[in-house]
Amino acid sequence: MNTIEQFNAHVMGSYGRFDLVLEKGENQCATDENGKQYIDFGSGIGTNSLGYCNEDWVNAVCEQVKSLQHTSNYYYTRVQADFAEQLSKATGLKNMFFCNSGAEANECAIKIARKYSFDKYGKGRHNIITLVNSFHGRTMCTLSATGQEVFHNYFFPFVEGFRYVEANNIEDLKSKLDDTVCAVMFEYIQGEGGVMALEQSFVDEIFSLCEKMDVLTIADEVQTGVGRTGKFLAGDNFGKKADIITLAKGIAGGIPMGACLAGDKCADVLTPGTHGSTFGGNPIACAGGLAVLKKAADEAFLAEVTAKGDYIREKVLKMPNVKSVSGMGLMIGIELENGKEAKEIVKKALDKGLLLLTAKEKVRLLPPLTISYEELDKGLMILEELLK
Ligand SMILES: *Cc1c(COP(=O)(O)O)cnc(C)c1O
Repeated sequence: MNTIEQFNAHVMGSYGRFDLVLEKGENQCATDENGKQYIDFGSGIGTNSLGYCNEDWVNAVCEQVKSLQHTSNYYYTRVQADFAEQLSKATGLKNMFFCNSGAEANECAIKIARKYSFDKYGKGRHNIITLVNSFHGRTMCTLSATGQEVFHNYFFPFVEGFRYVEANNIEDLKSKLDDTVCAVMFEYIQGEGGVMALEQSFVDEIFSLCEKMDVLTIADEVQTGVGRTGKFLAGDNFGKKADIITLAKGIAGGIPMGACLAGDKCADVLTPGTHGSTFGGNPIACAGGLAVLKKAADEAFLAEVTAKGDYIREKVLKMPNVKSVSGMGLMIGIELENGKEAKEIVKKALDKGLLLLTAKEKVRLLPPLTISYEELDKGLMILEELLK
């Protein structure tokens, strides 16, 4: 049996996969079972933030594996303390909870928001506003939070207490933000929803209304965080700091980790016994995260991310059949025209040795933050050929 047959004989069919078996990787290049190489413009959906097997990251992770791979959260570890301190420096948020994925980080944010409100105001203020076209995860609660009808299927009943507001529609926001609401949750740039940045005026309105009504702001930065948009947090591009920020994907360079960060307001909401995760804050993940922060929480590094993003944008905008380019930094959405279909382009790119993503009808690029201009050029040349 070949790998794909063996795989499909035993693994549930919950994903639409390409016929590609990856075996190893180096920087921005992945290699398949047959030795064919691919330039990776997807980095595992923005997760291998330093590319494949970055030397410093590998060393940090291996050293940690050799000394302590896991402890329960009954005990403290130095590596988690170091990571939390550095992440706090990079984000300006001092209080955090570690988990293993984006959905879990959002679950934690939702629990904090509801308990913050319950502690202060009692029952009846549990509603959370999310945006139409958002994506917040695949657990029952985060599926309910996700503002897309296609996700609200099969698994009834969903979790109650979510209201969906159209992105950038201030009137819709005002009409749904009443005294039963404890939080507004949003992505600054909707990733899965098609790499759509919120308008500054809408973001301003969220923050000013929430401030007035003691409603918490929750920024889902699972995809946009950790340097992806050219700032450490996408909120920095909007001049805003949410009360709660969730991170995952790129945070530990490819090891499962999520984090829910909060400012002073929510520092003491989670008390012993109110939340937990067996693997949360795992030492190996923290070591990987520290290696990522050593590079990505640096102004010069982030300026490079912005420069590379601008470079890609300029080149892609000149390519045939490109209608528009959206996103910030190295989070890029490409809208096509004249009947060109993103899914087709992504499929054809495989033959040519290029890994791409889609987001709704767009081609989406989330290359590793460390990608070199040389490899960028190679990938962009392939993309241009495909778009003709
Ligand atoms: C990917 C993603 C999630 C879900 O993260 P998982 O690690 O798959 O649970 C949540 N929110 C956003 C914005 C994402 O991009």
